[in-house]
Amino acid sequence: MNSPFVQSNVSRDQTLRDRAARVIPGGMWGHQQVGALPKGYPQFFASGSGARVTDVDGHEYIDFMCAWGPIILGHRHARVEEAANAQALLGVCLDGPTENAVELAELMVATVAHADWTLFQKNGSDAMTTCVTVARAATGRRKILIAKGAYHGAVPWCSPSLVGVTSEDRTHLMHFTYNDIESLNAAVAEAGEDLAAIVVSAFRHDLAVPQELPEAGFAKAVRAACDETGGVMIVDDVRAGFRLNMGGSWEVLGIRPDMSAFSKAIANGHALSAVTGTDRFREAANSVFVTGSFWYSGAQMAAAVATINELNRIDGPALMQRAGQRLRDGLDEQATRHGFELHQTGPCAMPLVQFVGDDKQASLGDAFCGEALRRGVYLHHKHNMFLSTAHTDAEIDRALDATDSAFAALSKHRPAKTGAPE
Ligand code: PMP
Repeated sequence: MNSPFVQSNVSRDQTLRDRAARVIPGGMWGHQQVGALPKGYPQFFASGSGARVTDVDGHEYIDFMCAWGPIILGHRHARVEEAANAQALLGVCLDGPTENAVELAELMVATVAHADWTLFQKNGSDAMTTCVTVARAATGRRKILIAKGAYHGAVPWCSPSLVGVTSEDRTHLMHFTYNDIESLNAAVAEAGEDLAAIVVSAFRHDLAVPQELPEAGFAKAVRAACDETGGVMIVDDVRAGFRLNMGGSWEVLGIRPDMSAFSKAIANGHALSAVTGTDRFREAANSVFVTGSFWYSGAQMAAAVATINELNRIDGPALMQRAGQRLRDGLDEQATRHGFELHQTGPCAMPLVQFVGDDKQASLGDAFCGEALRRGVYLHHKHNMFLSTAHTDAEIDRALDATDSAFAALSKHRPAKTGAPE
């Protein structure tokens, strides 16, 4: 927090950006670089509590990004932090895992419907890479099928950017279109006897395009293609895991994968990921060499045990669905009243909000988010947002008060437009 005795026109955020620009390439790396967000979005944060985050200049926001997914029970959830701190006080890294590893593995197997076993890593990219490695070990095959535009991690085999990636890294990667059975079957046929795995995300959440829930026929076709060819069905539940369904995101469709990757929300912000699998792949999972210096540390696992127990206890997914529906309905009502039309897609707990008729740069979305930010609500207009169980009715209603005023400010500047989003 700034000292009240130091007067300066330069924000602490700007001072940190200037310092970072000298010692961090580009001033910040990766997806938390705010360059693509509307002007005024802070780059640096000081703290979080419940559904709120506070930036380094002391501005507090109702947070609809939840650290881009990891925060699912609200920032600094007491039970989670207590469990993590208790383990950390006993040792952060030891010569082997702690008791928590077994407790968490048992909990994952009891919670995730298809899981007979689990392995822990740190990031979603680790977990997805482990899935693919186990699938290749189990089948002795090479081809991995993924949906076009899907994100599976920041590693050469699947990174959305080809900068610094060789074509050899991608030799055995093939694409199909999400929810398109014909394109899926064409890719399966092309992979032929070399098909190791089909990877699907929980729903279609490509960057900056409307989100799509999986169609039941498509989910069935993915399962059937794997059953017929012996390929491994992998659900990337890194982003959606435990936000939509504690048993796995495709449980509602009645389709179970062979392996899944979880990360983001499983430890309410503590760095952890998990691969779950069925017995058929137990031996392969045992045969591959997957490891990391920090993959066994106990504090994050203690946090995960507390997080999953709490989500189970309060039926977290139902609460987030309800909160997201309240936000969605409120925004729709406000948009109509102010002469705009919204295109709200994806699950309510992970909403993407776009303006019908917006231009390619999403200028209306940009302006709206900027107005909301100035009124204390942190939104994102090109990436799905995230609800947490700390988004109570009162927090949603406070956020809606602010967005109502943001719509009013927007309508003064821009005429309402019609037509589908471009
Ligand atoms: N898969 C999906 C669907 C994701 O959303 C992400 C992270 N945004 C990843 C994989 C990679 O996870 P991480 O950033 O933890 O490596």
